[in-house]
Amino acid sequence: MTNATAPRGAIVTGASRGIGRQIAIELGSLGCGVLVNYVANEQAAGETVAAVQQAGGKAVAVKADVSVAADRQKLLDAAIKEFGSLELLVNNAGVGPSRRDDLLDTTEESFDRVMAIDLKGPFFLSQLAARAMLTNLLDVGGRRGSIVNISSISAYAASVNRGEYCIAKAGVAMMSNLFAVRLARDGINVYEIRPGIIETDMTAGVKQKYDGLISGGLTPIERWGQPADVAAAVKAVAMGLLAFSTGEVINVDGGFHLRSL
Ligand code: NAP
Repeated sequence: MTNATAPRGAIVTGASRGIGRQIAIELGSLGCGVLVNYVANEQAAGETVAAVQQAGGKAVAVKADVSVAADRQKLLDAAIKEFGSLELLVNNAGVGPSRRDDLLDTTEESFDRVMAIDLKGPFFLSQLAARAMLTNLLDVGGRRGSIVNISSISAYAASVNRGEYCIAKAGVAMMSNLFAVRLARDGINVYEIRPGIIETDMTAGVKQKYDGLISGGLTPIERWGQPADVAAAVKAVAMGLLAFSTGEVINVDGGFHLRSL
């Protein structure tokens, strides 16, 4: 291990691409063992595994749908088997609605799909991970592990053409508070990282629209966010730099959340 406080075993959901991949690589650079979760894209997951190893970490790819209970158990079992213990869970996997519909046309099918992947999955995976972390010995700082939830500025910014995503992310924000309060006395800290507009496959279809908004002054820092911006915040958590903070919201959004006159 290259860093004394780095987690031995970490799960990063949705680590085959985008933000999750970069988080996995950053954790690899700390010498962590990283479980690289994916749901469909085996080749991309393999590329992440190679990049984590190149960065200095151990990695294994595990196919699992976070919305399915048996798959969540599979993730946990694989992490314990590969790395001996779980000290960090990053709930990163997430989807937008397959089609952006006006609020008045949102279907139950889309609502259920987005809720299951973006909110139910992270909630019950956090429950499983927390139970496993409770069996970890306290480290020198009195800690057993950390949970990081990747939410979104959509937790508070209303987009009426993807209401189900906004509701799910608002739920992730409360979920972070709940787990933070419940687990603080057990030595497990919980963080919500709230990315803004980040350049990944998820935003590829709306690139032109956001190019215009960003150059028009939507964000005080006038550029796209990159997966590395989000990964740097996770790295700070993994290194134990935020040990006296829990339930904290870390905005990684170029200042989008600021109000100004
Ligand atoms: P992305 O590029 O679309 O990648 C999504 C990742 O999630 C992929 O690794 C995908 O796996 C995985 N995934 C999807 N459904 C899954 C499921 N049911 N079970 C397990 N894994 C699943 O997305 P991203 O932009 O990196 O977003 C990552 C997170 O950041 C999401 O929670 C998203 O809501 C949040 N976020 C993104 C932005 C942004 O601007 N990009 C802004 C705010 C928040 P496969 O490769 O196998 O499909």
